[in-house]
Amino acid sequence: MSNSYLVTITNESGAVCGQLQEAGNSTNCYNFNPLTSLGDLLNIATYSGTSPYPQDNYSFTEDYLKHPFFFGREYTGNPLFKKPYSFRHFFVAVNELKEIITNDSRFSMSQFEILKQFLSLGFTSKIEFREENPLYELGYKVNSLNSEVVEKYQYVSVSYTYSYDMDSMFGENSETPHKFTYTCYSVEDIIFSVLHYLTLLEYGFKRCDHCDNYFATKTFKVKYCNRYSPYKGRENLLCNEAVDRIMTHITKRRNSIKTSLYNYHGDAASDFLYEFTSHAKAIKSVHNLKTLEHITSKDYVKQKWYKEEYKNKKS
Ligand SMILES: [Zn+2]
Repeated sequence: MSNSYLVTITNESGAVCGQLQEAGNSTNCYNFNPLTSLGDLLNIATYSGTSPYPQDNYSFTEDYLKHPFFFGREYTGNPLFKKPYSFRHFFVAVNELKEIITNDSRFSMSQFEILKQFLSLGFTSKIEFREENPLYELGYKVNSLNSEVVEKYQYVSVSYTYSYDMDSMFGENSETPHKFTYTCYSVEDIIFSVLHYLTLLEYGFKRCDHCDNYFATKTFKVKYCNRYSPYKGRENLLCNEAVDRIMTHITKRRNSIKTSLYNYHGDAASDFLYEFTSHAKAIKSVHNLKTLEHITSKDYVKQKWYKEEYKNKKS
């Protein structure tokens, strides 16, 4: 990577959106999700963990090109360095990112500043907030100063004043629509510009209960990320939608199994319900949902609960 890249992160109606663009090339433009893209990055680097040097512990997985940060191009490392050092920066950065994401405590802006020095990051940022356009309020259709169409809202750069209140602007309850534009010069800059945004807006990282990948969230009560579910046959649904749909399906099966088992033998029905409940209490990971699907399948139920020993027992 030798040119510069623009990372734009907006939050206009509670939804965080990211866009990545090569400077001067508006056709090469990727939308990405700032809340999941860093977690996905951990999946494109395979960790072998045998060397004391982080850069020697990682290699790319085959499908790394699908990650938006690479613009669909093969990454040849930092052109300033000769191989094998050209990938060093990238893997050191990924190693740091992994430490931050998998750590239980939240990353702070002061930690970020230290890291920025350590990783020689060079991105710059511009922060803008959306405000109502006073000209629009006054009924103007065109701004006479620059003959631009007057929109209802405009983005205004943040200027530093002594009354600048970090908490009300970026704090947990901040709802102010905003736009961050980062100018980046390397893939490491792109990665850490996104982390800069998340750190400033007080996001933390957790694993999705369903797909097990890391995502950024402000409230740790949220269980699921907004990736598409990896569950076979439900890949077109987001994690939370997939869990709801699968559980509805499994609950229907549970109810009809319960009814027909009661007709067979009361003990069989209650033994089945005991097994079902013990699995249903667990988190709704892909693996656990597969188990629930299995124990409510026709074959399994037939061979496990319709047994002579129940018939021989008195209810
Ligand atoms: Zn998920």
